[in-house]
Amino acid sequence: MPSPAEFAVALPAMTAWRQDFHRHPELGFQEHRTAARVADLLRGWGIAVTEGIAGTGVVGTIQGRPGNRAIALRADMDALAMTEATGLTYASTTPDRMHACGHDGHTAMLLGAAEWLAAHRDRFAGTVQLVFQPAEESLGGARVMAEEGLFERFPVDAIYGLHNLPGLPLGTVAVPKGPVLASSDTWEVTFTGIGTHGAKPHLGRDATLAAAAFILGLQAIAAREVDPLGTAVVSVGHIAAGDAVAPNVIPHSVFLRGTARALEEAVRTHLETRIREIAKAVALQHRVQAAPRYIRRLGPTVNHAAQAAVMLAAATGTATAVRDDHPPITAGEDFSEFLARIPGAYAWLGTGEPVHPEGFQHNVHFDFPDAALPHGAAFWCSLVERELA
Ligand SMILES: [Zn+2]
Ligand SMILES: [Zn+2]
Repeated sequence: MPSPAEFAVALPAMTAWRQDFHRHPELGFQEHRTAARVADLLRGWGIAVTEGIAGTGVVGTIQGRPGNRAIALRADMDALAMTEATGLTYASTTPDRMHACGHDGHTAMLLGAAEWLAAHRDRFAGTVQLVFQPAEESLGGARVMAEEGLFERFPVDAIYGLHNLPGLPLGTVAVPKGPVLASSDTWEVTFTGIGTHGAKPHLGRDATLAAAAFILGLQAIAAREVDPLGTAVVSVGHIAAGDAVAPNVIPHSVFLRGTARALEEAVRTHLETRIREIAKAVALQHRVQAAPRYIRRLGPTVNHAAQAAVMLAAATGTATAVRDDHPPITAGEDFSEFLARIPGAYAWLGTGEPVHPEGFQHNVHFDFPDAALPHGAAFWCSLVERELA
C-alpha cells in the first residue's frame, strides 16, 4: 500500500499546485482556470481527459491492468465569495474570492494520486475515473454532472469522496458508518396582512405578529416532534418587513427565509410538512395569509455500508489513525447527489488544529495545510489498490 511517506517526494509539486489554486480561487461553474490546469496536468501524465461536463467539470480516466471493475474518486474545485484575511504569501489575488473550504487541497490531493496511479497502472485492475467537480458550494455541481450523464458516460461500481476536517488530528481518516452530513434545504414564507397606522392596529391585520409566532413555533419541531436522539435544525436566516424610517407603520407583509437540516430523509420530510403547516396555522390564528415554499436542495449524505467498509480498510495501514465513530455534521454536501444514484462513501481527512484560532472552514482566516496533501493522496491510492485489487 502506498504510504504518506511515499508521497513526500511529490509534496513540493502538490504544494505548488495547491498554492496556485489558492492564489486564483474561482466560484462555482466558473472554475475555468482551475479546470484547464487540472486537464493539462492529467494529460501530461498520459491520462485520458474529458472536459466540459457541467461546464467546468473534468474527468480523467486511468486504465489499470485488464479488469471489469471501475470506481470514481471525486474532488471539488470551487471557492467561496469571501475576502481572504490570512495575509499568506499565496493568499487570494481576487477580492471576494477565497478557497475557504479547502477545495484547493482536495484538487491537489487528487492530482497527486492521479500522477501516482498513472505511473503505477500495474498496481490495480480496472478503471479509475477522477471526477473534478465544479460548484459544490450551494450551486449543485454534482447534480448537474449526474444529469449530464456522468455515470452513463463513465460507468463505475462506486464513487468515493474525501473532505478535509480541521480539528481532527493530521492524517486521521474518519469514515462514518451511516449519515455523514445533513440535508440542506431552504424554506421561505410570506405573511400578508393589512398594513395600517402603528397607533391603530385594530384597523389592520398584523403580519409581523404572525411572523413572530411562526418563528417561535418552528423551534417546537426539533424540540418536541423529532426524536431527541435524532437531528433536526430549523434556522431563520433572513427577515424583511416594513421600513426602518417608518416605525409608526405596521407593515403589509413579512418575508422570512431560512434553512432546514436533517440526517434522515423521514425527518427531512417531517420538517417540510410542519414548516408549511405551522405557517398556515399561525396565519389562521392571526387572520393573515401565509404563502410557504420549501425548496429541496440537497439530501443527507449517508454512506453505503459496503463502501464505507472499503474506505476504512484502505485507511488502515496508511492513515495516521482511523475512526469509524465520527459523529455526523449538520453541514450539507452535494456528494449526496452521487450517493443517491450509485453506491459510495465519504470520508473526513484530519488536518489538525488550524494555525489561526478562527481558521475553521468558511472563515476568512482558513487555510488548507499542505502537510495534509501526502496523507490524502496516499489514501486515494490505497483505496484504488483495495477496490481494484
Ligand atoms: Zn464549504
Ligand atoms: Zn467543502
